[in-house]
Amino acid sequence: MSAPAARPPITVRLLDIFRIGPGPSSSHTVGPMRATGMFRRRLIARGVVPARLQVELRGSLSATGHGHGTDRAVLAGLAGQHPEDVDPDAFHALAERLGRDPSIEWGGHRVRLHPDDVVFDRSRDTSPQHLPHPNTLVCRAFDGNGALIHEEAWLSVGGGFVQTIGDESGKRKAPSAPVAPFWNGESLCEQARIHGGLGGVVLANERAWEETSGALEAGLDRIWTAFRTCVARGLRHTGQLPGGLGVLRRAATMQAQLQAGRVEPSYRIIAQAQAYAYAINEENAAGGIVVTAPTNGAAGIFPAVLLEAAERLGLSRDQVHRALATGGSIAMVIKTHASLSGAEVGCQGEVGSATAMAAAALCEILGGDIDQVERAAEIGLEHNLGLTCDPIKGLVQAPCIERNAMGVAKAWSAAQLALNTGEKGIVSLDKVIRVMKRTGDDMRREYKETSEGGLAVNLPEC
Ligand code: SF4
Repeated sequence: MSAPAARPPITVRLLDIFRIGPGPSSSHTVGPMRATGMFRRRLIARGVVPARLQVELRGSLSATGHGHGTDRAVLAGLAGQHPEDVDPDAFHALAERLGRDPSIEWGGHRVRLHPDDVVFDRSRDTSPQHLPHPNTLVCRAFDGNGALIHEEAWLSVGGGFVQTIGDESGKRKAPSAPVAPFWNGESLCEQARIHGGLGGVVLANERAWEETSGALEAGLDRIWTAFRTCVARGLRHTGQLPGGLGVLRRAATMQAQLQAGRVEPSYRIIAQAQAYAYAINEENAAGGIVVTAPTNGAAGIFPAVLLEAAERLGLSRDQVHRALATGGSIAMVIKTHASLSGAEVGCQGEVGSATAMAAAALCEILGGDIDQVERAAEIGLEHNLGLTCDPIKGLVQAPCIERNAMGVAKAWSAAQLALNTGEKGIVSLDKVIRVMKRTGDDMRREYKETSEGGLAVNLPEC
């Protein structure tokens, strides 16, 4: 009998699951912005000063890039803006400024960059040479004679994660072997019995990897503050969302209904979390600063469930950090064995994953044991299997905002079902993740963030 294949431990970092950046999409806004930012830094580090730059968007980035602000994002990355600390006003003003004055600072030089240098490739060629991933972008630099001097293909693989093809220089070093190794849901639960819960596993690894003492805690505090700031902004803003779909912001109205006692008492807890989810997703749709949790399109579910629970139950800083780590551990396993990207597996990878993360964290907060926490995540994901990605007009508004609110309700139900139904279920988290991957592979491309299927093409009144 042959020896079992080696199973490399998961080394995805917690603060890479939760990335702060502008909306509306982690794979179509944050990822492309990071990719072109890295392209810029690599060229400047090598002393390359092009005369002109160009970025070609392919696949889903081309199909829904306008609605997702991908063009704005790649310009911002090339101009040296960073998703995590960009001023939203400077981010939104850049394209207009480049239309009037098409040049950017480039390591002490000026380089030409015009909004028309972002090219949307409309080809439906899905051969691996043309489209190594549904979210592919090609960055090019030209000399003064118009000759190509450098080209890099980048992939935005979901949740703000990016990869380049071929050139490994500048790639972040993989962390050392984890102190609490896990490679799937089952081994995560085994380690959780040693390290005091799923979140305890991730925190043990992160603390061992930490280069500066306190950096992890500071990073988690920043994430928590970003969640709260985003909700506060979303509850303040009213009016219509941009993009021409005519979608109204509703979070403020929902909050007013709650404060006036007009929500049926048995529904108040979920209604409060749903108002928070609306606030976050409306900020995201408007291009505000949000946190990938695990993506921008599905950014509302996890923080909304956590914020509501934290306010009502008075969670301590340590409990909040542990909840972030528990939710993060579920995203790490899903990312490793399936995908967090709507362009790869449909919305089951975004809203499904976020629901599983929130269900697991809430179940743990409410006193669930390790098996119940795993089961909560499994239920949260299982009942999103097959969910397609079909944003109308390529905007992360309909069905996305309401879908996050439904995700909140599902996460609550999943946590409660796991706590109240006793026995372990017949479907494990690992099994449901495998099924999600296969379902995503079988899904036609029309249903994977192309706006060519589902609601995106069956709403004649739009
Ligand atoms: S439908 Fe789902 S996966 Fe697609 S953009 Fe909206 S939230 Fe993301």
